[in-house]
Parts: sequence; structure tokens; C-alpha cells
Amino acid sequence: MYGVCGSIGLKQIFYTAAIAFFMSFCYTKDMGVICVFVNQKGGVGKTTSAINIGAFVADTGKTVLLVDFDAQGNLSSGIGANPIKPGIYELLSGTASPEEAIKKTAVKNLDVIPASTDLSGAAVELIDQKERNFFLKKALAPIRNRYDYIFIDCPPSLGQLTMNGMAAADLVLIPMQCEYFAMEGLKQLLHTTKRIQENLNPSLAIGGIFFTMYDPRTRLANDVIKLVSATYKETVFNTIIPRNIRLSEAPSYGMPISIYDRQCPGARAYYAISQELIRRISGGKDGA
Ligand code: ATP
Ligand code: MG
Repeated sequence: MYGVCGSIGLKQIFYTAAIAFFMSFCYTKDMGVICVFVNQKGGVGKTTSAINIGAFVADTGKTVLLVDFDAQGNLSSGIGANPIKPGIYELLSGTASPEEAIKKTAVKNLDVIPASTDLSGAAVELIDQKERNFFLKKALAPIRNRYDYIFIDCPPSLGQLTMNGMAAADLVLIPMQCEYFAMEGLKQLLHTTKRIQENLNPSLAIGGIFFTMYDPRTRLANDVIKLVSATYKETVFNTIIPRNIRLSEAPSYGMPISIYDRQCPGARAYYAISQELIRRISGGKDGA
């Protein structure tokens, strides 16, 4: 484990610290901020985090748009989007307007653009096109300033859809499980983010890394948290999301945890991390 951290190196530490520093100057109250949830590893809590952070941010009175950018459509069903078509595929392909693709949710101030399995075709269709990395950016351009926050949920890969998500975003949010292999995945993801900054989206920054499905009884989980926190310092969110069965039940009712069980430990953690995110984006000022 120590070998992994050792090879991450000082350069990376400076790089992440610089990004965190830069971030605090980036945003004004008037700009819609686009955050993308990325981790090439499957099942780490990307979708759960997008739904629940989105819902708690919307609770503060901010306008939020969730974008399901995964053909699995988990975010769409998890937030009870209905109908799911036209959705993001139709918006990308120009067969639906934003007004047709955007659906209201049961949460005030929270809208969603759902995804259907059609989206899997988009990745293939995009590959041969010159502007293949910028389809999502273009599709969101006319609507980004209608919202205070846009949260994009990506599939578990660093393929064409995730590239589009990162090319469209201001901030990358990285949920990770407290496991050994997760640290190797993190290294690769930060490297990819750097390449995207250099080649596709110079204004992309790391919004933060956070731990999900934490079980305090395992020693490995605590070791991983210590090591990642020591390496990436303020890039890591203070809030840790615990493993909590209520979080896994809520999507089957099409509800965020803020509606399903607002008092459970998972809800408290997602509330806390949503406030932390708002504070980070506003550079520590209240009421961003
Ligand atoms: P994929 O890579 O397939 O898109 P993902 O990274 O979006 O997955 P989720 O779908 O959010 O991950 O979560 C994976 C599974 O773990 C889901 O069944 C979800 O309900 C459950 N889950 C997520 N977070 C928690 C948690 N903190 N406690 C308990 N269960 C959780
Ligand atoms: Mg998912």
C-alpha cells in the first residue's frame, strides 16, 4: 500500500493542491457550475452521489439539473424520471429540444435529463466524428445558465461518454471506495483528468475526492482514508459517506434520500457533503 502512495509522488501533491487553491477563485455567484461524477471503477457510488448531492443542493433553494450520462439509466430510475424519452440521447442527436428532454422531479428546484439504453449507441456514433468529445458541452451550452448547478453522472469507464462529460464540466468529483485497488484507479483517473485539461478542457479542475460506503469496522478502510488524505490533502472532502442500507433502498422508490429517510446516517452524510461542496465552490463564502 505504501508503495502505491510513494509512486504518486510530490509532483502530484503539488498539482492537486494547486488545483484546490485555484478553485477557490474560480466561481462567482452568477455562474452555473457543471460537476461531473467520474470513476472508471463500477459500483463506487457515482449515481447515488449525483442523486443525493443534487437533491440536497436543490433543497438549499439552488436550481439543479441532473444529467444521466450512463446508458444503464440508474440515475433516471433512481430519481423517478418519467418518461425517460426524449432524454439525453435525443438532445445530443438534435431530435429533441432541451425543453423536451428536461423533466421535473418530485424535489423542488431539481430537474433531470434522463438516459435510456439508446445512449449506448451514441458512444459508437460519436467515435468517427471530429467533434466527438464536445457533444455534451454543446448540448448543455444553451441551458447551463438556467441552473446554478448541473451534475453529470458518468458510466464506469473512461470511454467516449466520460470524455464528453469531462470536456463539458468545470469540476470533477471523484467518489471512491475505501479499498486498496481504488487507489490505483485514482492515480489513473487523475492522470486522465490532467490529459483532458491539457487537450480538451483547460478550465477543468478537480472538485474533490470523497469516500463512499465506509465501514468503520474494517482496518483497511481506515488505512486507505489516511493514505489518500495524506497524499491529496485538501482535495479530499472532510465528509465520509458511510455504508447505509437506506441509501441503497431509496432508488427503488425513485426517491433521493432527502425524501426517503432524511434522518438516516446516509442522509446526514450526503447533506454534509452537499454543504461542503457549496462552500468549496463559493470559496468558503456563505450563501453561494
Ligand atoms: P456504476 O459504475 O455501475 O454506474 P455507481 O458508481 O454509479 O455504479 P451506485 O450505483 O451509486 O454506483 O452504487 C452501487 C450500488 O451500491 C447501488 O446498489 C447503490 O444503491 C449502493 N450504494 C451506493 N452507495 C451506498 C452506501 N453509501 N451504502 C450502501 N449502499 C450504497
Ligand atoms: Mg452509476
